Amino acid sequence: MAVKTATKKPAAKAPAKPAAKSVATSKKQWVFLFNDTKGVEGSAKSWNDIRELLGGKGAGLFDMTRAGLPVPSGFTLSTQVCDAFVTAGNKIPQEAWDQALAAMKVVEKQTGKRFGGGLKGVRPLLVSVRSGARESMPGMMETVLNVGLNDKTVEEMIAITGKDRFAYDSYRRLLMMFGATVLGIDDEKFDEPMDHMKAQRGVKMDTELTTDDLKELVVIFKDVIKKETGKDFPQDVNEQLHECAMAVFRSATGHKARTYAKQMGWKTTLPTAVNVVTMIFGNMGDDCATGVAFTRDPSTGEKKMLGEYLVNAQGEDVVAGIRTPKPIAQMEKEIPKAYKQFMNITKLLEKHYRNMQDVEFTIEQGQLYMLQTRNGKRTAKSAIKIAVDQANEKLITKEEALQRVTASDVDFLLHPQLDAVAVKAAKGEGRVLASGVNASPGAAVGMLAFDADTAEKWGKEKKDVILIRPETKPDDVHGMVAARGILTARGGATSHAAVVARQFGIPAVCGADALQIDLNTRTVVANGHTLKEGDWVSLDGAKGEAYIGQIPKVTTSFEEQADLVTLLKWADEISAKKTRVDASGKPWRGLQVWANADYPKDAERARAYGAQGIGLCRTEHMFFEQARLPIVQRMILAKDPVEQQKALDELLPFQRGDFEGLFRAMTGLPVIIRLIDPPLHEFLPSQEELIKKIAERDTEMRLGTILSKETYDEYLADKTMLGAVTQLHEQNPMMGLRGIRLGIMIPGLIGMQVRAIFEAACNVKAEGLDPHPEVMIPLTGHVNELKRVQPELEKVAKEVMAEKGVKVKYKFGTMIEIPRAAVTASEIAGMAEFFSFGTNDLTQMTFGYSRDDAERGFLLKYVEDGILPKNPFQTIDKDGVGRLMKLAVDEGRKTRPGLEVGICGEHGGDPETVEFCYTINQNYVSCSPFRVPIARLSAAHAALKYGKK
Ligand code: PEP
Ligand code: MG
Repeated sequence: MAVKTATKKPAAKAPAKPAAKSVATSKKQWVFLFNDTKGVEGSAKSWNDIRELLGGKGAGLFDMTRAGLPVPSGFTLSTQVCDAFVTAGNKIPQEAWDQALAAMKVVEKQTGKRFGGGLKGVRPLLVSVRSGARESMPGMMETVLNVGLNDKTVEEMIAITGKDRFAYDSYRRLLMMFGATVLGIDDEKFDEPMDHMKAQRGVKMDTELTTDDLKELVVIFKDVIKKETGKDFPQDVNEQLHECAMAVFRSATGHKARTYAKQMGWKTTLPTAVNVVTMIFGNMGDDCATGVAFTRDPSTGEKKMLGEYLVNAQGEDVVAGIRTPKPIAQMEKEIPKAYKQFMNITKLLEKHYRNMQDVEFTIEQGQLYMLQTRNGKRTAKSAIKIAVDQANEKLITKEEALQRVTASDVDFLLHPQLDAVAVKAAKGEGRVLASGVNASPGAAVGMLAFDADTAEKWGKEKKDVILIRPETKPDDVHGMVAARGILTARGGATSHAAVVARQFGIPAVCGADALQIDLNTRTVVANGHTLKEGDWVSLDGAKGEAYIGQIPKVTTSFEEQADLVTLLKWADEISAKKTRVDASGKPWRGLQVWANADYPKDAERARAYGAQGIGLCRTEHMFFEQARLPIVQRMILAKDPVEQQKALDELLPFQRGDFEGLFRAMTGLPVIIRLIDPPLHEFLPSQEELIKKIAERDTEMRLGTILSKETYDEYLADKTMLGAVTQLHEQNPMMGLRGIRLGIMIPGLIGMQVRAIFEAACNVKAEGLDPHPEVMIPLTGHVNELKRVQPELEKVAKEVMAEKGVKVKYKFGTMIEIPRAAVTASEIAGMAEFFSFGTNDLTQMTFGYSRDDAERGFLLKYVEDGILPKNPFQTIDKDGVGRLMKLAVDEGRKTRPGLEVGICGEHGGDPETVEFCYTINQNYVSCSPFRVPIARLSAAHAALKYGKK
């Protein structure tokens, strides 16, 4: 027996069944017998069309029958019936129903049984009714078994099979399922009398109830139905069938299905088919069984059948856990013939569908029947392993392997996770502290520290710390990097905390506004709990949730994940092919993935994760280090140019050292170093704190306290500092003296940085390495700004190279993060040799939303209410910000055809944004090192979706 590919004609047909005749009574065919190959192939051309028409389950049953596998007889009311049902106001079209009844007649012939019974010596036909949309949709009515039993047929079953307990057990199951799923009666209404009876009889298991007990239950259940609905359980089997079909169709647009569709991001719910399948009984004795299996391990991906079965049981017993099922391998001994057949069939099924299968089967008196096959759901780990294994086995192509893995699979694998069972328990115990923005994925467990110094101190003592702050600032970084996780009450996905956390791969939950943090008492109150410093919390950065107490973690590391490493190597191969063609017909390779990294160790990590360059080194981060900050402050506060130059001269060796480290780590690859960007006040103490400190000293002195010389000197220094801070104070610093403006106002500062970059590059080149510096000027709004700054800086670069007698290849370019820069890109490209979209600022300025405040204010509500489809600080707003980006690429390349364009805002690691960047012909995306693997996969996905062969 061979299984054919889904779109081909079958080689073999199910031998015992009469050939199918189409049941269509007019041109439109609504109902398809499982063996109606002609009808199905006439109505649906491709395998996708067949799934669309018959739903996943129906298509599987049809396809297995077509391939000659043992499948019970039956038929499918197509998804088109569902559409017509909804359009007609929840009515099955008469024509479709007539076809269903005609199909039932054929099934009677195929099985030699009779639906509704009444023929002496002929077994009544019982069927199951099952839903099944194109994609499986939890929330839809699942299954009703044993349809066709009534007071009369139950006795006929007994007369023929001699199994009275079995017949009444089947009847009571039908009443329960019909009552609960079709009529919507609470399960409890059936469970209660059954539990009561078991208690009365002194038994625990359903199987211990006698035939008389079951008979009694049938009466009780019929009463429940009458009492709850005012109607009798239908004795007419066609009415039973009709009611079941109606319930399935209704559930396709019901509340649960709608919620699921929304969660999946689908525009509408999916129409379902109704499958009517001859009942096969796994519960007729010890040569009967029922089971479920996966052709590979769905949690590890291991190539090993994983399944369970129960002897003498019906389908739902395996799932319901009433009895403990046995591992499938044991079936080899218990039912050897059926086992062998089962293993052969599943092997063929996997080959046929070219994917891991999730199958259901039943063995009735030694005869095996396949009830379902579908692509099995799997964990992220298993998805990657199966994809890579199957490509290596040549079952699928590398391209298909890549398409089978999602960005969230990769994301999931790269970060430690909280143990799901323990999380559930914590929720059950009311240990949820707060939820916020899922700012940086991963799990973190630690003790709360309320300030960065404490976090750093505890970190050095090897304690696990969670830094909790209302929000973080640049001078908290030392505490952030010492922490296992970060929890803030304010700020969103692009807040300082989130950006830094992602950069360093620290899990973070930001903007959890239920947190009432009191920095004085060092306590936090939320959700009815009060926690103090040192108390344990656990964070789930991927979900944005914080729990009280220690929840165990499950850990993973990139290098250890051989399958992921292989898969991403394939991703890069695909991205490297020249499959993109721009408007002028010029071919381009796909997107590269670079990383945002400030320090050599981040660059090394980025390279290990597969980054092909550094897209952003934020040099100012280096200024915050302990040894440097006082020099930076002296530079800012200098009274004259000589003093300022002295400070700059002191800073230069630090910067040069930093850059040398970066160039060494990234030898042979481009490194974009951005000149100083933030407003200067960020390097100075807070105005508020200074005023408070000075006021305290003033009060002490007024009250007659004599200050020590040291304290008095500090007081004077604070007053000088306050003067400077006040002078630099801006109402709107993000739109103030920063970026290139700062470079124009303090040319010596960026001059020093460029000197440091080129001295470092020359030194590293002299070591025999291959540095590729690219100097990036931030926040350009007008080409004249570049005209003022860039030639001066290029002069410095040339001077240094001449001094050192070394030449390095370099570029000067700019960030595009102000809308005006995007609009005037053709002029800007006259100066800039590359563009890098700073989409954090570009989004802020295009929308006019503050990147620091919007997410704790209105923005999340905007998203929740559908005013905005997505958080624009996480996924690029294609229609607005994206249009500016596209314009900038197109206009920029008109002036400079080879213009290198990338993105370095937080969006660079977002899969949807990566796809967008591909479509506007960018050269690369740059993101935090930890997101590089996700971006590599997303770049390949984009190439596969849009690239020309
Ligand atoms: C940006 O604005 O997108 C950017 C990368 O710069 P920063 O976040 O440092 O302002
Ligand atoms: Mg910026």
